[in-house]
Amino acid sequence: MRYYDKLIFELSRPGRSGYSLPDMPKASLPEPGSSIVWRQTPLELPEVSEPDVVRHYTNLSQMNFGVDTGFYPLGSCTMKYNPKINEEVVALFNGYHPLQPEETTVGIQSIYDFMDKALAEITGMRHFTFLPCAGAHGELTGLMLIREYHMSRGDAARTKIIVPDSAHGTNPASAAVCGLDVVVVKSRPDGLVDVDALKPLLGPDIAGIMLTNPNTLGLFEKDIKQIAGLVHGCGGLLYYDGANMNPLLGVVRPGDMGFDVMHLNLHKTFSTPHGGGGPGSGPVGVGERLVPFLGKPRVSGFHGNFGVILRACAYILALGKENVKLAGRLSTLAANYIKESLKDCYKLPIPSVCKHEFVFDGLKDAGDVTTLDVAKRLLDYGFHAPTIYFPLLFHQALMIEPTETESLQTLDSFIEVMRKIAAEASENPGLLHGAPHNAPISRPDETAAARQPILKYSKV
Ligand SMILES: *Cc1c(COP(=O)(O)O)cnc(C)c1O
Repeated sequence: MRYYDKLIFELSRPGRSGYSLPDMPKASLPEPGSSIVWRQTPLELPEVSEPDVVRHYTNLSQMNFGVDTGFYPLGSCTMKYNPKINEEVVALFNGYHPLQPEETTVGIQSIYDFMDKALAEITGMRHFTFLPCAGAHGELTGLMLIREYHMSRGDAARTKIIVPDSAHGTNPASAAVCGLDVVVVKSRPDGLVDVDALKPLLGPDIAGIMLTNPNTLGLFEKDIKQIAGLVHGCGGLLYYDGANMNPLLGVVRPGDMGFDVMHLNLHKTFSTPHGGGGPGSGPVGVGERLVPFLGKPRVSGFHGNFGVILRACAYILALGKENVKLAGRLSTLAANYIKESLKDCYKLPIPSVCKHEFVFDGLKDAGDVTTLDVAKRLLDYGFHAPTIYFPLLFHQALMIEPTETESLQTLDSFIEVMRKIAAEASENPGLLHGAPHNAPISRPDETAAARQPILKYSKV
């Protein structure tokens, strides 16, 4: 173990300190007996020098993998490079305080107004609310809007929502939280929603349908106009999951496809660094029909997750209309390039042209090498793994989303490594079973790590 792999508490020595403050004037301490409750035991903090602290955090940051350290093709997550100009723009607001008087925050309000217009133009929606702080939060908000719409018309029997079997897991979960019953519609062998299977599900109890287009397999639902006609025809509404909207940017608009309500993940499509649980922003856009239900305010307390909104704003303005359009095309090109370059070594269950992402079903010549082994081995070569074992339609799913921000050289080196791993799988499978060999830890018990995490330092 290297010295700085120790916990910061293990580096601690009594009395050591990395700063000195002027003595606090006596008068500013609250009187004993005042309403302030004093801590009874001293706060247990590590006592370390400034270099210890700097090295501790710098070393920690390098034990992790991020978009700033390497290619991160995690499917259904849009791990794109986030331009640093966004951070400069955010830094301009460093002096802003969440409690400052409203009349001094008109600039912030005008950025929300701009984003409302920009996102409406990009998506073909009428207006957005910026209340939701994540994609799933947006889904719940959108579904509640759909319920409100039906209730306002005295249509209380509409308690079911249709979700395809390829949907992102948050879709059925949000529907359940909203009190809706989920009805699953099957995909056809070509990965698209089976319209013939959809028809018999439609009726007076259907609140609507939730769709991702392109869907989670990276395929564009070509029958969307027909689907919209059928769902509207039975009195239902269409919800669009726009978390990963990259391929559509400047090409097609959900509003034009017939969707009534949608969310965007600004922390995916619009370039805010994400992972580790936030902060995020999942604004919900609605078409004409749902505008009256949007209500006010449309920004959550303390100006919402304003940093995320601002980064998205900087991203849209930096690209401009013409280049926003390029984002969609390049993300599609990059995904198809990888797919075509690897399909001789990895099983490609759906061979058609994909949009921003696609799914392999493990190695062609797998032997006893699993998708998990491939994912772990990639780390040894400095690449983050794609999404694995999702969607559930295939047993060895490897879902790859390169995004539009990677160079041809990066894509080529990823392809080379994936081919090398395929060769290793037949020549030396043991090497893959034991991977990663170069990471700070190899294969943790993932269930225990999720269910019984140890998050607090304890001496014993
Ligand atoms: C990421 C994602 C979500 C959920 O977004 P969160 O911000 O993580 O709640 C929903 N749908 C799709 C398709 C996604 O990729």
